Amino acid sequence: MTLLRDQTFNGLVLRNQDYRENDQLVHIFTDRFGIITFWLRGVKKAKSKQSYLALPFTYGKYQGTINSQGFSYLNDGLRVQQFAQIASDIKLNAYVTYLNDLVLRAFGEAKPQLQWFRRLTQASKLINQGLDPEIITNILEIQLLEPFGVAPNLKACVIGGETRGIFDYSIVLSGIICQKHWTADEHRLQLLPKTVAYLRLFAQVDLLRIGSIKVDHRIKGQLRQAIDAIYRDSVGIYPKSKKFIDQMYHWHI
Ligand SMILES: [Zn+2]
Repeated sequence: MTLLRDQTFNGLVLRNQDYRENDQLVHIFTDRFGIITFWLRGVKKAKSKQSYLALPFTYGKYQGTINSQGFSYLNDGLRVQQFAQIASDIKLNAYVTYLNDLVLRAFGEAKPQLQWFRRLTQASKLINQGLDPEIITNILEIQLLEPFGVAPNLKACVIGGETRGIFDYSIVLSGIICQKHWTADEHRLQLLPKTVAYLRLFAQVDLLRIGSIKVDHRIKGQLRQAIDAIYRDSVGIYPKSKKFIDQMYHWHI
């Protein structure tokens, strides 16, 4: 067992859960150590001065002890801020919760993932700033396929290697197929060419460089269907937070 004491790191709270009577476990995506589970003792007591450390949708600089096996401990939070819009809006809240859940599933604990720490933090920032949460979610869903071990070919036709033309998506072949090769999969998703173009773009787009997003309603619906199909058939996970989003669509908010 290795204990690294008095470490300072940047972090993004992914999720908290009640633990024992007065405690909580908080899963924080850190820049230096990857995802770490911290045990916050007595944090549910009214007098606790540490309760702000477990708040969802917060990020900042933290100090603590990192334990290579078992729980780690937080001493302090420096400049901890909450994404105020996300915390107060049930829809934004739902999308960010789902993204956090996906990242928790995609990566094991305690392995540094600096690039993903930055991407996920940026996704929360953009959603908090008012960019379309559905599209930001789609982008991360597509980019997370690689760590999930799916890594579909969105660069070129999986049959003939064509990079230009009109494409559709094939779940079975795990990638795009050009019009010439559509007969290779009779269950291809029948997507509009523009929808496939967005899927290809999402695989490459850098969230740190996004300033605005505008995708029309029909394409958004197809993106949701296509990505749901890929997750259902190729990744095979359906977190509760995603179920909540799917139900939310029926409220018409
Ligand atoms: Zn082809």
